[in-house]
Amino acid sequence: MRLKTKLVLGLSFLFALIMAFGILSIFFINRFSNDSKSVLKNNLETLQYTNKMLKALEDMPAKNEAIDLFTENLVKQEANITEQGEKEVTQEIRNNLPGLIHYPKDSGRYNQVRLSLLLLNDLNQQAIIRKNEVANNTTDVALFWLTLIFTVAGLITFSFVVNFPSVISTPIHALNEGIREIAEKNYSKRIHLKQNDEFGDLANAFNSMAEKLDDYERSNIAQVRFEKSRIETIINQMKDGIIGFDAKQKILFLNAVAEKLLGVKEAQVLGKYSADVAVNNDLMRTLLQDNIKKELKIYADNKESYFNKDVLNVTNNNEVIGQVIVLRNITHFHELNEAKTNFIATVSHELKTPISSIKMSAQLLSDNRVGHLNEEQTELIKSISDDSERLLKITSELLNMSQVETGNIQLKLQPVNAADIVQKAVEAVQFKAQQKQVAIKINADDNLPLVNADIEKTAWVLINFLTNAIKFSPENSRVEIHTTRKKNAVEFIVKDYGKGIDNKYLPKIFDRYFKVPGSSKTGTGLGLAISKEFIEAQGGSIQVQSEIGSGSSFSFLLNMAG
Ligand code: ADP
Repeated sequence: MRLKTKLVLGLSFLFALIMAFGILSIFFINRFSNDSKSVLKNNLETLQYTNKMLKALEDMPAKNEAIDLFTENLVKQEANITEQGEKEVTQEIRNNLPGLIHYPKDSGRYNQVRLSLLLLNDLNQQAIIRKNEVANNTTDVALFWLTLIFTVAGLITFSFVVNFPSVISTPIHALNEGIREIAEKNYSKRIHLKQNDEFGDLANAFNSMAEKLDDYERSNIAQVRFEKSRIETIINQMKDGIIGFDAKQKILFLNAVAEKLLGVKEAQVLGKYSADVAVNNDLMRTLLQDNIKKELKIYADNKESYFNKDVLNVTNNNEVIGQVIVLRNITHFHELNEAKTNFIATVSHELKTPISSIKMSAQLLSDNRVGHLNEEQTELIKSISDDSERLLKITSELLNMSQVETGNIQLKLQPVNAADIVQKAVEAVQFKAQQKQVAIKINADDNLPLVNADIEKTAWVLINFLTNAIKFSPENSRVEIHTTRKKNAVEFIVKDYGKGIDNKYLPKIFDRYFKVPGSSKTGTGLGLAISKEFIEAQGGSIQVQSEIGSGSSFSFLLNMAG
C-alpha cells in the first residue's frame, strides 16, 4: 500500500473516531438536555401550579384574590397537560371550580378539589421519578458507548502511535545508511525494502543510482588500470633508468633499467623511503644528492656506461606530489665525444710538428743571411709566419682541450714564485704588445708567498688572458698585471681598458667554444674554457669582471704553497 494511502487511511480513521465520539457525545448530551427540559417544563411547572392552587384553595374563604390566583394557575395547568390521566383530573378541577367560587365554605367540594390537586401532584412526581430512571438509563447507555468507543479508539490510536513512526523511520534510516555508504565510495551498497510504497520507489531509485555509480567506478578503474599498465610498459621499454617517488620520498616504481643500475628488484624497495634504501646502495645515495652536475659513470651491461641525472617534479594543482629521477643513458654520446676528442688530439698532435717546421722555415727565410728577399716576398713570408703561428695556437688549444676532455691534465705542482709566472707570460706576449703599442704594467705586492702551481699551465692561462687583453685593447693603451695576496692565496689579475664585455655574456664566457657575438672572427673560443679547467685542476678559482666601454678584468686565485 502506498504511503500516501496509508496516511490518508490512518488519518481518516482517526477523523472518523473523533467524529463518532463527538456525534455520540452531542447526541447523548442533547438527549439529557431534552429529558431535563421536559421534566422541568412538563412536571415541575405543573407542581408549581398545583402548589399555588393548593395555597389559593386555603385562602379562598378569606381572600377574594385567591380565586383569581387559582383560576390563573388552573388555566396554565390546562395548557401544560403532559401525563396520562392528568387531563381528566384537571377537567375535574375545572368542573368543580364554579361551585367552589359560589360556595367557598363547602367542605365537600373543597376536599374534592384538594384531592384532585394532590392527585395531580402525585401524577407529576411519579412522572419525574420515571423520567429520572429513563435519564439514568440513557446515562448508562451513553457511558457504555462512549467508554467502548474511547477504549477501541484509544487502543487503535496507541497501536498507530507505536507502529506508524517505524513505518516512516525504518526506511529513512535504511536510506540514510545507504547514502552514507555511497558517500564513502562503497558503491556495492543496496537497500532492500519490501515495501511497495514511495519508500520502495526511493529504494529502487537509490539501487539503480548505486548500480550506475558502481559501473562507472569499475569502468574508471579499468581505464586507470589500462593507462597504468600502458605507462608501465612504456617506462619499462625505455633505455633510460626511471625511478618514481611520492611526496614523502617513498619509492613508487623502478623500471627495468633502473633495477639493473641500482642492482635491486622493484619489489624489494617498493614503498620504502629512498633514504633507507640509500643506506645500502651507493648509487641511490649519489642520486639523492642535489648537486650532481657531472655525468654519472655506472658499470652496467658489462661495460662502463654514462648517465645524466634529471629530476622532474610531479605536480598536481601547483602542489608537488612526487618526483621522478630519470637517468638518461648518454654512453653513446660519450663514446662519440671520446672518438671526436681522440681524433682532435691525434690531428692536432700530428699537425703541431709540421706547422712548427713551417714557422721555423718562414723565420729562416726572412733572415737576410739566408738570402735577400724583395718587398713582396717579405710580405708573403710574414703572412706565412702569422698564419702558422695562429695555426700553432689553435692546435695547442685543441690539444689542451682534448686533454681536459679526457681528464688527462698532467699537472706538475710545485712551489712557484708568482713573479716567475708573470715574467714568463709577459715575455711570451711582449712582441705582440709592442706591435700594437700596448704597454704592459706589472704591479706586484711585496713579499708575495710562493704558490702551489704548475708553472707551464699557469703561464699558459696568463698568456691567454694577456693575448685577449692586447687583442681587445685599442692601440697605445695599457694592460695591467696585478698580483696580490688574498688570505691563503695569491690573486693574478689581468686588466685592460678595451671594449669590455656585455653583462649578459659573462655567465657563458668560460664555456667551451663561446665567443662574444661580433667580437672577433679569429680564435676558437676555447682559451678561457681551458684556462678555467687548468686553474680549477690546481685547486684555484677563476673570475671575470667587465663593463662595456671600461674594459675587462680577468683573474684567478691560486693557493699558496705549504
Ligand atoms: P678566443 O680564442 O676566441 O679568444 P677565449 O676563450 O680566450 O677564446 O675568449 C672567448 C671570448 O671572450 C672571445 O672571443 C671574446 O669575445 C671574449 N673575450 C675574452 N677576453 C676578452 C677581453 N679581454 N675583452 C673583451 N672580450 C674578451
